[in-house]
Amino acid sequence: MRIANVGGRAALVVDGRVVDVERASGGRLPSDSNALVARLGEVGDLEVPDDAPALEDVELGPPVPRPSKILAAALNYRSHAEESGLPLPDAPVLFAKLPSALAGPTDDVVVPEGRARVDWEAELVVVVGRRARDVSAGDAWSYVAGVTCGQDVSDREEQFRSVRQFTVAKSRDTYAPTGPVVVTPDELPNRDDLAVRCLLDGEEVQSGRTNDLIFSVPELIEFASGWCTLEPGDLIFTGTPAGVGDGRDPPRYLAPGQLLETEIEGIGAMRNAITAA
Ligand code: ZN
Repeated sequence: MRIANVGGRAALVVDGRVVDVERASGGRLPSDSNALVARLGEVGDLEVPDDAPALEDVELGPPVPRPSKILAAALNYRSHAEESGLPLPDAPVLFAKLPSALAGPTDDVVVPEGRARVDWEAELVVVVGRRARDVSAGDAWSYVAGVTCGQDVSDREEQFRSVRQFTVAKSRDTYAPTGPVVVTPDELPNRDDLAVRCLLDGEEVQSGRTNDLIFSVPELIEFASGWCTLEPGDLIFTGTPAGVGDGRDPPRYLAPGQLLETEIEGIGAMRNAITAA
């Protein structure tokens, strides 16, 4: 299944067209994609109405618009740890991104004037499908509703102050675009090995595969659920591969007028314009 948020309503993408889930189910299923990700087992076959619009003709919001929390893994690709000159972590390092930072897959990312070190991080994002507490890695995929693309937009000036501050640096409004759709793991070519790319104005700046993750999706869920209860709709950003702007010589950063594209195999692509306001 491919789940989208169309104008605030839950939709399934079927053969390139969007089907309103509540209407197509005669009210049996919720109209809200945040609620739907906890009930994917009940969806079954929905008929595609004749007037179902094409995916490219609708505006998509973040597929899970109101997670109770967003966790994100720092330094979770071998390639990114190498470019950062940092040792590999011996356990997952998680921080929070605030849900108010969420944006849709074609929304603007607003980088205000004066913020000169704002960086990109293309990431696979896991959507939790059912309540998880003390889950083992072996069971972890059964707690996942699906995956989507995310950008962990990061203000490096704020992040790397003498005392680090990840949450604020990565939670300005619009600094967490997600989408375009949530894809259930059964539809992926290989849920543990997906190509992740990031393009800036059409130039490829990141290209990695999730088999390079230091801590896999199941290991992240085991670790996170050992500390806190994961609720349906919670998001986990799984880390970014090599190629961020801050690791370059000379460094490069996001600036208004640019187009940031984030693409994951089997999911699709986000296209977010960088604007000043
Ligand atoms: Zn990140």
